[in-house]
Amino acid sequence: MRAKLIGQTLPLAKLPSIPYVPAMPDTALMPIPGQIDPVPVARDITPRADGRVDLIGLPKRRIAELFEAAGLDAKAAKLRAKQVFHWLYHRGVTDFDAMTDIAKTMRPWLAERFVIGRPQVVEAQHSTDGTRKWLLRTDDGHDFEMVFIPDADRGTLCVSSQVGCTLNCRFCHTGTMRLVRNLTPGEIVGQVMLARDTLGEWPKSGQADLSALGDDLVDDEGGYSSDGRLLTNIVMMGMGEPLYNFDNVKGALQLVMDGDGLALSKRRITLSTSGVVPMMDRCGEEIGVNLAVSLHAVTKEVRDEIVPINRKYGIEDLLQACADYPGASNARRITFEYVMLKDKNDSDEDARELVRLIRKYNLPAKVNLIPFNPWPGAPYECSTPERIRAFSNIVFEAGISAPVRTPRGRDIDAACGQLKTAAEKKSRAELDRLYAEKQAALETE
Ligand code: SAH
Ligand code: SF4
Repeated sequence: MRAKLIGQTLPLAKLPSIPYVPAMPDTALMPIPGQIDPVPVARDITPRADGRVDLIGLPKRRIAELFEAAGLDAKAAKLRAKQVFHWLYHRGVTDFDAMTDIAKTMRPWLAERFVIGRPQVVEAQHSTDGTRKWLLRTDDGHDFEMVFIPDADRGTLCVSSQVGCTLNCRFCHTGTMRLVRNLTPGEIVGQVMLARDTLGEWPKSGQADLSALGDDLVDDEGGYSSDGRLLTNIVMMGMGEPLYNFDNVKGALQLVMDGDGLALSKRRITLSTSGVVPMMDRCGEEIGVNLAVSLHAVTKEVRDEIVPINRKYGIEDLLQACADYPGASNARRITFEYVMLKDKNDSDEDARELVRLIRKYNLPAKVNLIPFNPWPGAPYECSTPERIRAFSNIVFEAGISAPVRTPRGRDIDAACGQLKTAAEKKSRAELDRLYAEKQAALETE
């Protein structure tokens, strides 16, 4: 999947000095559990052993700066950055040699200094229901997952934001991992690029560029986009808590939404948070995507237990932040995710309380009821289908849409909450110890 090395024609002495960026902080330095951005310095460049810079994940402005630092004058750097950006994100090329509007002599100059990266694919699995899961690896050897869910009317890519998670929702398999590190913007947008590679969804040369026809045509709601692509929607619902990696997620989604590149509408992107209240406003203001909130319980007692961040940011604060979410409206509702756990959060009374809370805060809301997806050692069971139906009916009769999500990709552990890499099995005692450890970290902040 890596860009091919191209013949190196320039003498090494002519190599530009590329600004040195300290090596990626790794496991030992990383976990500052629960903090808003566990990476203290915004790093937009992943240093490589060969000194070249991976362009994926960098904004156009940054690419121009690098070209200038490498010796181009400011005007040429800006023009080249614009061309290269288009090739990277609109055409999906992974080889400078394919950039046909860039002079033939310039291409090896680029290849000597820069690369066009993709996450490495360790394993690709296909579910009987069409869901696909990829186990991916960062350049420094950390594994994470990405899932593609095809539906009749859309195709959704479920993207990871972190390797592991600082939080420890008790029903979530990812929560049983420690946070290894945040993914960089390049590793996040790289998942989308890789999915497009695999699905064969980059425009071929000579093919009409439909994005030029405007948003109405390429982004008609409800159907496959008119240009026939399978990948139409993105959800930040893979491994990790995206609002604890705000800057990198923002950088990546800005690339995904850039009209000169992947050009996916913000209406087709949803970010899911477990409830990092202080970052929700910024998410709406600065990223502007749809919001999903992992509510999962309506009382303090139960939410404290199953979504422990609730001890820090309670239900009332969370719902107020939803009411204030920039851009939420009846046309762009907030999704409340509610995992159905037997005898834990699934009573009629819970359903009625959910309706009361949504009404109290006057929220433009829809509720997604997610049957609990089991994993080895999970301390809960899924509610019965009858219970889920009864719960859904109560919410629905109150005028709030409450579909029951069909689990997808369960046979390959690709369903919600089943993602977990380095799949060693932890004992009950180990799981409890990890839970206590993450709890203490949240509380001592
Ligand atoms: N960290 C973010 C996004 C990733 S989790 C968040 O918590 O919102 C994506 C969704 O899957 C969340 O709603 C999460 O609560 C849900 N989920 C986690 N484990 C699950 C499980 N075992 N079964 C069903 N849904 C689960
Ligand atoms: Fe982290 Fe989300 Fe899983 Fe909670 S549900 S542990 S926030 S990935």
